[in-house]
Order: sequence, then C-alpha cells, then structure tokens
Amino acid sequence: MTKKEFKAESKRLLDLMINSIYTHREIFLRELISNASDAIDKLYYKALTDDTLTFDKDSYYIKISIDKENRLLTITDTGIGMTKEELEENLGVIAKSGSLSFKKDNELKDGYDIIGQFGVGFYSAFMVADSLTVISKALGEDKAYLWKSEGAEGYIIEEAQKDTLGTTIALKIKASTEEENFDEYLEEYRIRGIIKKYSDFIRYPIKMDVTRHELKEGSESEYIDYNEEETVNSMVPLWRKNKNELTDEDYENFYSEKHYGFDKPLKHIHLSIDGAISYNAILFIPEKIPFDYYTKEYEKGLELYSSGVMIMHKCADLLPDYFSFVKGMVDSEDLSLNISREILQHDRQLKLIAKNIKNKIKNELQEILKENREKYEEFFQAFGRQLKYGIYSEYGANKDTLQDLLMFYSSREKKLVTLSEYVERMPEDQKYIYYASGDSIPRIEKSPQIELVSEKGYEILFFTEDIDEFAVSMMMNYQDKEFKSVASGDLGIEADEKTEEEESREADNSKLFDFMKETLKDKVSDVRASKRLKKHPVCLSNKGELTIEMEKVLSAMPNNQNIKADKILEINTHHEVFKSLQDALENDKEKLALYTGLLYNQALLIEGLPIEDPVEFADNMTKIMK
Ligand code: ADP
Repeated sequence: MTKKEFKAESKRLLDLMINSIYTHREIFLRELISNASDAIDKLYYKALTDDTLTFDKDSYYIKISIDKENRLLTITDTGIGMTKEELEENLGVIAKSGSLSFKKDNELKDGYDIIGQFGVGFYSAFMVADSLTVISKALGEDKAYLWKSEGAEGYIIEEAQKDTLGTTIALKIKASTEEENFDEYLEEYRIRGIIKKYSDFIRYPIKMDVTRHELKEGSESEYIDYNEEETVNSMVPLWRKNKNELTDEDYENFYSEKHYGFDKPLKHIHLSIDGAISYNAILFIPEKIPFDYYTKEYEKGLELYSSGVMIMHKCADLLPDYFSFVKGMVDSEDLSLNISREILQHDRQLKLIAKNIKNKIKNELQEILKENREKYEEFFQAFGRQLKYGIYSEYGANKDTLQDLLMFYSSREKKLVTLSEYVERMPEDQKYIYYASGDSIPRIEKSPQIELVSEKGYEILFFTEDIDEFAVSMMMNYQDKEFKSVASGDLGIEADEKTEEEESREADNSKLFDFMKETLKDKVSDVRASKRLKKHPVCLSNKGELTIEMEKVLSAMPNNQNIKADKILEINTHHEVFKSLQDALENDKEKLALYTGLLYNQALLIEGLPIEDPVEFADNMTKIMK
C-alpha cells in the first residue's frame, strides 16, 4: 500500500493548520458535525424520494464518543457515507467546493483568519489531532473503506470492516504541551460545551455517552459509574420557531445562553424574512452598556449562520457602527457555509441582509420611543452617545436614519425631548433651534449666555456631551431649521437690531472697548456691549464655526493642536460694574487694565475654560481687595 500525497494547495493549508497557534480550535467539531449532518441530509432526502429505502426517523443521528485512554475522539454519523472514490476525491483535496479562495502568497497570519472565521471543513480536525482515521460505508456499497492521514505527509486508503451505513471519524488528539492544552478535547463537559455553543440547532440528535454516578444499592458511600446516552443538542433553533409561541423568557434565556450579555435585553427583534433573500434573525437591544462598550476592545457584530450552522462568531458587516450595541444572530440558507471573509464582505446577499437589519433596528427604536418613552430614555442614556457619533461620522451621511432617534434635555420641559417635538413647539418668529453647551445641566442653567434666549421665551436644548455640538454641526439643520448656539455672536433675535440709542451708546463706549481689546491682545477678537446679558457683568460668545465647547473638547484630546475658538468678550453695559469701567477709563488706566483682565478671567471660569495664569489672577484679586 502506497501513501498518496495531498494536492499542492491542500498541503499548504494543512501545514498552516497544523502549525497555527490558533485560539478557536474548538470549531473543528462544528465542522465535523456539520459534515455529518449534511451526509444525513443526503440520505434523508434519498429515503424520502426512493421507495426501496426504508425510512426510520430514529436511525438518523450523530454520535460523539470519547476514549480517554487511547486519546480518541470519535464522530459517527448514519449518513450517506463515502465510496472509495469519494474518500479520495473529497478528503484528498482541500476546499473542493471552491468557495474558499486561498491565495498562494498568503501569509501565515492570513491563514489564521481564514481558519478562524470559517474553518476549512474536515481539515480543521488537524488543529487538535495528530492523525485522522475515517471509516465509511456508502449507500449501495458492499465494502467499507478506511482513509487515514497523519497530516501533510499524505494519506492511505484501504478496505475496512463496517456493518452500518455512514461514516466514523476518529481523531487521535494531540498530546498536551506546557503551552497548549489538548486534553480538554477529551473531556466530556468540554465537548458538550462546544456542541452546545456551535451545533445546538443541528436538526438531528447529537448523542453522547455521559457518565453518571449512583449510590450502590445498600451502600451509603459507595458509588457506581454507569454510562447513559444523552442527546446534547436541542435540535430546533429558536429563530425557526414561531414567535407567537415564544415567551419573553425564551428570548432572555437565549440571550444569556449565547453570552450576549449579563443584563436582560431591553428588547428583542425576531425576524423571519422571505423575499429576495430569506433569513431568520434574532436581535437584541441590551439594557446596560457592556463595560468595554466605549473602548477600542469592543467588537461589534452578529453571529452568522448558514442553514443552522454557525459560520462566523462576529460578523461586523451586518451592523453599522452606530448600532454596534445590537447583539444577536442571523441565519440564512442563501449563504454558503464555506464562504471566506473577503468574499463575505462583498457578498450582495449579506449586504441586503445588513440593510434590512439596519432599517428594522431603526424602526424598532422609533417604536419604543413612541410606545414606551421611559424605556427609550433608558436606552438613550446608555447608547445615545453612539447614535450621535453615528450622525457625526461619515460626514452626516446617516442623518436621515438617526436624527429622529436623538434626544436632548430641554430648558422648558426639564427632561429629554426629541428634535421633532422641539420644532413643533417653535413659535413662528423663532428662526433657529437654540442650544447651550456645558458640563452639566445645572451649570448651563446658570450660564449667562442663555439669558437673552430664555427671556425671549424660546426653548433651549442643553448639550452636555462632548459629541453633541459636533453632531449637530454635521447635521446643519433639522426640518430646515438651523441649529444655533446661544453663545454665537448673532442670535437671530430681534434685539440684535440695534436701536439708535444703542448705536450711540456703543459709539460712546468705543474708546473703552478699544482699550480693553488692546489689553487682551489676541485673546479675544472683539470686546463689545452685550445684548444677551441681563444679570451677569460679562460673558464670552463666539464667532465662526468653532465654538468654545468644541475648543474644550479638542484641547482635551491627546493630539490637540491648540485650536482656539474665535472669542468675543461681551460686557453688560447695564451692570453696575460697567460704571467702574467708565470711571477707570477717565481716571486710572492701570486699574482699567486690571479690571479687564479680571473680567476676562471671570468669563473663562464661567465657560469652564482654564485660566491662563491663575497666579496672576489671584494676585490681581488681592490687589483690588487692598
Ligand atoms: P465541505 O464540507 O465544505 O465540502 P469538507 O472538507 O468538510 O468541505 O468536506 C469535503 C467533502 O467530504 C464534503 O463535501 C462531503 O462530500 C465529504 N464528507 C465530509 N464528511 C463527510 C461525512 N461525514 N459523510 C459523508 N461525506 C462527507
């Protein structure tokens, strides 16, 4: 008997597989079970269409056995089996189905990916086994054959003894080393766990002998072990069940079983789509933020199944970033099992599913917002930030999807409101959607800048998250209404038009303001009489696109480029302090310079901006007190 060599490509992939330090080795079992299930499918189909074959439902199963002593893990199926030629054909060439495009010049690293994401069928067994022995008896054949390989060297085929139809694959599990544990693949609980995780929904029973202990009769301390056959998988996937027959609890169990999160889902979405593309999906909106959600470590994605077999643990392409909090799975018969990740990314069907899912999530969220405000607010507290990032990223391309899901705290309602609610309430003479930014709601409430807009009776949205202003600057407008910061120079409020009296007063004060401007140099671009201030003596406002809040956010970033907002120092000419300024202009220029510095620093403090020279500021305060 001569040893036959694998085809060149197979040899390369085998090398890769054997030498990979691969963390998701466990998927080998999924691959073998899925092959077994396919083989039973084929026989099942034949039996249904061929009268000469008897059909006994109970005779279709997959059996997993562990022989610790000999380090053997065996997968037996009662499927259609393989002839000698088929053994040669199917197991001598890797990825015969051709769906795996394996580039010759692939780095080892890429190899990990291919294996990791999809497995490569039968050969993945070499990740955990030194040798594989396949014994198979095909439908309609008298003889059974044995195929054996110890890896890249090649394989042998010879006649064998097997009475029943089907295939048995025995894996000689590798010996554990100091770094690597292979013994686990000989542990009953571990194998059960892997089956539960990946193959729970295979529609044939996956049986295993489980060891049970029982008190020996008449004894109080002596146990006897005995084996009992048990079906490990539940066989019917939840997503194939009729949603009317499922309870919230069923979904919650599924959520924890799948390790989607430690919380309870806020909402589940169960989809059974039959159309241009058919798929089932169960999606969850979590209740709590995963601890790593707003970090780089968090990986988005949905589990992807092809006809009940999991092919990918986290398929990122199924979810847009702004819905990255969604957990769940998609199962489609229209996707091939052995599809590679590169192909998947460009897969038209996958794109269709992704688009569909995106819309469903959006609609679901809108539904919650409408039907259960409290629940939605809970959701928004946790993930609203991500939605705002979604608006900001991709240059606002997702505005239409997301804008109606946003909420901001309202100065009038004292709670979160949507943009559409805001716009609906706008009086006719109000041109803009006003917002005020700050670290917290109480702080914004005290901010001098909101005085004019508040007095006018207009509602103000409070922006307390650093992303807020960036998001609306990307949105530009909502229902044709522009956003306007209450700190902006031009507020579009009637009082903006200067009365004659004001004009003349401003002219009177030009000497004072010029002096102050001179003193502050390029710290501010202008000093002027304020129209917005009612009670406070000073505030800062800004000109241009870049607001003071944005400056704060940008300067907190590690690569900050010292970008400054264009600031205007506004002085309340009706305030008592103003008289002191006028006085000082006449009598004591040095004092005026001192006052100017103090007022400017006060304005910075109110804004939550750092004072440039705190020591000087403190010294100047002392000077005045003396
Ligand atoms: P794939 O399943 O993607 O085709 P595999 O390498 O896993 O790739 O298997 C190659 C082929 O070997 C299968 O397509 C199938 O025809 C055959 N095969 C594998 N396992 C079995 C089995 N348990 N029973 C019958 N045929 C099998």
